[in-house]
Amino acid sequence: MSAIKVIEREVLKEKPQGPMGFGQLFTDYMFTMDYKEGKGWHHALIKPYQNIEISPAAQVLHYGQAVFEGMKAYRQGDDIILFRPEENFKRMNLSNARLNIPEVDVAFLLDALQQLVRLEQDWIPAGQGESLYIRPFVIATEPYLGVHAATEYQFMIILSPVGAYYGDDQLMATRIYVEDEYVRAVRGGVGFAKVAGNYAASLAAQTRASELGYHQVLWLDGVEQRYIEEVGSMNIFFVMDGKVVTPELNGSILPGITRKSILQLAAYLGYEVEERRIAIEEVMNAESVSEIFGTGTAAVISPVGSIRYQDREVVINNGATGPVTQHLYDEYTAIQEGRKADPFNWCLKINKR
Ligand SMILES: *Cc1c(COP(=O)(O)O)cnc(C)c1O
Repeated sequence: MSAIKVIEREVLKEKPQGPMGFGQLFTDYMFTMDYKEGKGWHHALIKPYQNIEISPAAQVLHYGQAVFEGMKAYRQGDDIILFRPEENFKRMNLSNARLNIPEVDVAFLLDALQQLVRLEQDWIPAGQGESLYIRPFVIATEPYLGVHAATEYQFMIILSPVGAYYGDDQLMATRIYVEDEYVRAVRGGVGFAKVAGNYAASLAAQTRASELGYHQVLWLDGVEQRYIEEVGSMNIFFVMDGKVVTPELNGSILPGITRKSILQLAAYLGYEVEERRIAIEEVMNAESVSEIFGTGTAAVISPVGSIRYQDREVVINNGATGPVTQHLYDEYTAIQEGRKADPFNWCLKINKR
């Protein structure tokens, strides 16, 4: 594809002062490109952030052909880095393949993203726990009510400066509710892909859990409703007998990049790590579960203070952040925010020019 055209805006927006929340503010520019059968991906453009126009018959609105990604850019002193961006574009291609969306060019998008973030560098906040959240996504835009894989798509990247996911208290322990009626995903379905519909399917359970006073839903497997899969938008980890344990990827769990990174980091820091099937009774009954935490790009690491399954609630580590969770959080964010060396080469430095 040829060079990316840039349409400049005349007036830039005000940058936020004070707390940013999560995903409510958007920067000055966005990246877009189109796909048409026979022509491939084309018309790559950086343009002012604006509403998009699609036909009311656009296939995404009816049949849900939509995938997304989430990653972050950080300020490290005078430098700007993207955290493992290649992993996200590669995962987008796995999601695309599952929804019959044409593959994207990973190398091209890595360049496009760097160009966009370079242009928007003043939007990357510098405070601890703050970053620029990056949301690439694809939607089917072909206007057609018949059911088939669409022949037209739009790919976009929008940017949002964010603070800590759960507000000021970065490591606030969350209360989780184990869903035992609905399931999120089944093997052979789309659970391993980052598709929009997975979230639509999770909302009724999420709302019920919030009404009962819980922050997140913990999903069990779709067959026996017995084995632990993941939390709303995070993978889940347990500290058991000092070991760092997480459910093994089984085709219905989303393969989180934070999950993979935390497994690597924990092993590097000397913890024994294990990926295996974990039954819910095991967690509810084991004295040996000393900590639980979730992992995901948005919240990074989120300690779990209590877990409710059917009519029982178990409090974990007195409802406070445990030492292993805190250690992993400190080491992981130190790499992302440049306070410590990056032994894994996770941070991709952007040329600020
Ligand atoms: C995105 C996501 C995660 C976390 O993945 P990361 O790559 O670590 O951000 C976990 N579960 C679901 C369902 C997700 O959509």
